[in-house]
Amino acid sequence: MLSTDDNHQEIRDAIRDLCRNFPDEYFRRIDEQRAYPEAFAAALIGAGWLAAMIPEEYGGSGLGLTAASVIMEEINRCGGNSGAVHGQMYNMGTLLRHGSPAQKEQYLPAIAAGKLRIQSMAVTEPSTGSDTTKIRTTAERKDGRYLVNGQKVWISRVQHSDLMILLARTTALAEVKRKSEGMSIFIVDLHDAIGHGLSVRPIANMVNHETNELFFDNLEIPAENLIGDEGQGFRYLLDGLNAERALIAAECIGDGYWFIDRATRYAGERIVFDRPIGMNQGVQFPIAEALIEIEAANLMRFQACTLFDAQQACGAQANMAKYLAAKASWEAANVCLQTHGGFGFASEYDIERKFRETRLYQVAPISTNLIFAYVAEHLLGLPRSF
Ligand SMILES: Cc1cc2nc3c(=O)[nH]c(=O)nc-3n(C[C@H](O)[C@H](O)[C@H](O)COP(=O)(O)OP(=O)(O)OC[C@H]3O[C@@H](n4cnc5c(N)ncnc54)[C@H](O)[C@@H]3O)c2cc1C
Repeated sequence: MLSTDDNHQEIRDAIRDLCRNFPDEYFRRIDEQRAYPEAFAAALIGAGWLAAMIPEEYGGSGLGLTAASVIMEEINRCGGNSGAVHGQMYNMGTLLRHGSPAQKEQYLPAIAAGKLRIQSMAVTEPSTGSDTTKIRTTAERKDGRYLVNGQKVWISRVQHSDLMILLARTTALAEVKRKSEGMSIFIVDLHDAIGHGLSVRPIANMVNHETNELFFDNLEIPAENLIGDEGQGFRYLLDGLNAERALIAAECIGDGYWFIDRATRYAGERIVFDRPIGMNQGVQFPIAEALIEIEAANLMRFQACTLFDAQQACGAQANMAKYLAAKASWEAANVCLQTHGGFGFASEYDIERKFRETRLYQVAPISTNLIFAYVAEHLLGLPRSF
């Protein structure tokens, strides 16, 4: 199979070694039990892989986005699910870019050492969805603290995190000049918060993804947990999105290769009408097409990462990479399922599990239509549609 990246073989080999301890049976059992892959998360975090993007001065490995994306890709390429842990890789970015020196000293070394998990980021709300600037969760400053009230939905890995990044309105929408102003980012100590103003209700869902509704009822957050300047939170959030999109794209690329490997293997082994099914063009062409789509998406993923690492604007490439990779992995999933015939539906083949997992990425963390809207507005110069 082609490979568009040959500079990260050491990382690839190391992740493959680690993932050998978490074979298909492991993820299958976790999925059946609707459990969290704790041992897998502990192994990755313990070995420092999810601290890849934390600078060395704080105990991380100071790698760029390209290398970090290879880690995520390899996990999925080995049959695992980075979605269980990817927050630990990128949620610290807001703290790193906009936190005070004291906040960075307080949190980053412990995150890098795996002592603190920051796997959660709370943005989405039930009543506003993709229209983030309309969020209704408020944080009101009172006597050296903020009082948080409101509701969030689909907030992942809360039960497997120590810290959560929270976006809340600190100035009412009616009182700001631009709707993107007046929101702030906080770091929430979940151990202090849960049961003391924050309640968590898990959401049963199609993927084995630990995700929750959150209810804030006068949750007190110390004022020093505000990250950066009050009112600038939306801008800080946007600063982190390109990295997140490129990392998710890499996960989809990993999924895509996994599906193509499985489909190719099965097409070569399965004998029907006295010959391998892969001898039929009707079977081999869709797999070939899926590979072409994955390879093309992979180029855009590496372009986005390379620009990001060179500190150049990469919003267009990161969005397009996420779109292309999520679409290509889903097409590869569909082809893989079809190639396996009835056996694709059997849990023991793992295809139906990965099929569900990779479908998520056309909706989260940003839905396809919102990427189209970005491209229409920012690349084509068409009027903003919302
Ligand atoms: C498993 C899972 C985990 C998640 N984890 C997190 C998390 O950890 N933290 C977090 O903050 N969020 C999380 N999310 C939320 C996720 O980011 C949102 O679901 C996603 O951004 C879409 O928002 P929505 O569900 O509110 O859809 P809506 O905004 O209600 O949109 C519904 C559909 O309408 C389309 N649509 C909406 N407006 C327009 C428009 N103007 N033009 C064209 N189409 C439009 C959308 O593209 C979408 O297809 C998670 C979601 C899931 C499913």
